[in-house]
Amino acid sequence: MKAFELVSPRSVGDAVALLAGKPGAGVLAGGTDLLGLQKDRVQGPSLPLPGVLVNLKRVPALRGIVKEGERIVLGALTTLSQLADDPLLRSRFTAVAEAAAEVGSPQLRNMGTLGGHLCQRPRCAYFRHRQFVCLKKGGDRCHAAEGEHRYYHAIFRGGPCHMVHPSDLAPALQAFDATVRVAGPPGERELPLARFFRHPEEDPLREVALDPGELVTAVLLPEPPPGTCSAFTKARVRQGWQFALASVAVAITLEQGECRQARVILGGVAPTPYRAAGAETVLEGVQPDERVLARAADAAVEAARPLRDNAYKIDLTRGLVRQALGRALGVPPGQVGLAGPWSGDV
Ligand SMILES: Cc1cc2nc3c(=O)[nH]c(=O)nc-3n(C[C@H](O)[C@H](O)[C@H](O)COP(=O)(O)OP(=O)(O)OC[C@H]3O[C@@H](n4cnc5c(N)ncnc54)[C@H](O)[C@@H]3O)c2cc1C
Repeated sequence: MKAFELVSPRSVGDAVALLAGKPGAGVLAGGTDLLGLQKDRVQGPSLPLPGVLVNLKRVPALRGIVKEGERIVLGALTTLSQLADDPLLRSRFTAVAEAAAEVGSPQLRNMGTLGGHLCQRPRCAYFRHRQFVCLKKGGDRCHAAEGEHRYYHAIFRGGPCHMVHPSDLAPALQAFDATVRVAGPPGERELPLARFFRHPEEDPLREVALDPGELVTAVLLPEPPPGTCSAFTKARVRQGWQFALASVAVAITLEQGECRQARVILGGVAPTPYRAAGAETVLEGVQPDERVLARAADAAVEAARPLRDNAYKIDLTRGLVRQALGRALGVPPGQVGLAGPWSGDV
């Protein structure tokens, strides 16, 4: 591993001052992603390995889940286990708690933090391999376009880099219109999670909209409207320790049986969490029944443009959308439910 200096501030202000005073310093939270990159020496002309790490773990203000007016504040250092186990999240923001519970393994969920989870780097094998200098490291091409791209590459909006956004929580948080709070040298700012993630077209080198010296301090969730239900579902190569081949988070607000608002957000299939707006349009304004869910699932994958070897993700994603909608609406596979003409699997 490349040797680094470790500095441990006690407050957000001190952390920001340290980052500003040490250009190129990295932010260290649980270390489950960052230390792996340091050990594997993942670097390139535009990706230097940090020589200084600012350790956030001693900043108590970044921990915990609290209410702030009409919003729930999730501190950036809150662990994924805490998110998965929190009774409020489990009952009101079910997809968020479910997504946290699906990450990696218990050890990773105990160490991994919300801030680090949202800022984790892509899982593309070319990016992670020290001998490939891909676009993300300052190289001149995406090796996955013609190379190996069966698992962790895009079927929506791919190119110039074909990575997929790896986080399970991001689609779930976006389904609840989450906002990210960031601290930096000019002070504090908030931006919608959907704008926090950057597409490689905007900037192939970075996945998040953090300026130099900035760090994530919290994610904020607005109270969902009454009648909102949600679910998260994910497919992976094997059951444990695996990133999503595709994932789906849905949040549906029902009013007298009719869908007033729908959010359908896909993970693992595009360089940023992908909002399936076509599916939302199918759902909104109607009473969801089996036919509606099937049409929504079809609409969710309409714009897919797979690479040579990952077209299977289209059917996979379609199935996950139907499954997530069925679970959110309380209709387990193979059961009849709701007011509509349900029959068979959803
Ligand atoms: C074997 C394995 C399996 C995994 N499986 C899954 C999975 O199934 N699903 C999934 O979604 N994820 C999975 N992950 C990823 C895991 O969720 C992340 O590694 C973890 O959440 C990162 O959190 P951390 O606190 O350890 O971050 P760190 O490793 O400390 O940091 C990660 C990145 O975020 C930056 N960072 C950290 N905190 C902040 C902050 N507050 N503000 C700004 N930047 C910050 C760091 O500088 C670094 O670039 C897996 C990881 C591993 C190693």
